[in-house]
Amino acid sequence: MLTAKTRFGETLNMLPVPIVTADQSDRIVFANDRAAQLFGYTREELIGGSTAMLFPGAGPCAANPAGAANQALRGATSAGAVHTLIARRRDGVSFPAEAETSHCRIANQLLQITTISDWSKCPEFGRNPKELEHLARASSLGELAGSLAHELKQPLTAILFNAQAAKKFIDSETVNLAELREALEDIVSDNCRANDVIQKIRALVRKGDVELQMLDVGSVVRDIALLVHSDALTREVRTSFDIADNLALICGDRVQLQQVVLNLLLNAFDAVKDCAPADRLVETIVREEPDGHVRITVKDRGQGLTVDNMDKIFRPFFTTKPQGLGLGLSISRTIATAHQGRLWAENNDDRGASFHLTLPLSRGGRQPGGLRA
Ligand code: ADP
Repeated sequence: MLTAKTRFGETLNMLPVPIVTADQSDRIVFANDRAAQLFGYTREELIGGSTAMLFPGAGPCAANPAGAANQALRGATSAGAVHTLIARRRDGVSFPAEAETSHCRIANQLLQITTISDWSKCPEFGRNPKELEHLARASSLGELAGSLAHELKQPLTAILFNAQAAKKFIDSETVNLAELREALEDIVSDNCRANDVIQKIRALVRKGDVELQMLDVGSVVRDIALLVHSDALTREVRTSFDIADNLALICGDRVQLQQVVLNLLLNAFDAVKDCAPADRLVETIVREEPDGHVRITVKDRGQGLTVDNMDKIFRPFFTTKPQGLGLGLSISRTIATAHQGRLWAENNDDRGASFHLTLPLSRGGRQPGGLRA
């Protein structure tokens, strides 16, 4: 007669995903065919071995700095815990993996059951992090493309209108120099406006190296406010930007930080899209904190986050949107961490979610005379 353990093992073997079960001391008691195939061992070779041979004690995968390596296979995790790890095949080749662990008691033995997803199969994961970051940025700009065209159309139309008026003034018998000057001045200022938008888009599209400089975070947010202006209008989302004056400077990469703010704002616009018009509001607040950090908060009145999703949203490729890449928040968190900062989310007391980005202020880096950087 089949024992409960054997029946359980047979069932796991029929499942089309790699599964490993281990006892309390991390000893592998069962591995299904898929797992053996993934790691390049036979099932017999795996059984009795340590889970550390599959998930060596190296640090967490770069894509998820918050994840604790190997914890997924240790008893410390709660049921259903998911971790991004570096796994290792028998031939020594490492690959990124996601491990989801739950616990179950079979024949009086507490077992950890771990399901493994091989991320090296994901075409996007093979790219280097810089390319991935660029891909996410280009995708955010792609979302904005229609409204950016609109943003540019306004000054271009005004330029055409003023140029036609100027021509008329010149052709008339009595040239009104004051009117002519005004039309030409408008042309120059509209040209600067269009140029400003183009420069900001070009800066975001560039594939450059990280460029650390002293920055006013307020100006980073203002640049992005300019880019999302038309998108917010099109989506009928009201925005407010409350940026403290005379912020101390931080040391950072302007484009990377713009990418984070752009991502938070576009996510917030998505979050409020099904709200009643009164709730289609996204507020951005920038303040200096007493502990030597500057905090950017993007607050929406959307559906908020479920407890389950609160952590998942920072994982690469997690998305609830049909057209989503699921890269924005994971890359944003990597950028925040690289700046010695933090990025996290919380639900608001009334409704919606707030995303907070804190960055350490550079010592002695205040803007001279309150001027913006
Ligand atoms: P994407 O936008 O491509 O889905 P992100 O990494 O930026 O990728 O976001 C991951 C997921 O986090 C989104 O699909 C969504 O489910 C959730 N999310 C992000 N921002 C918010 C928000 N402001 N309110 C509710 N959910 C959000």
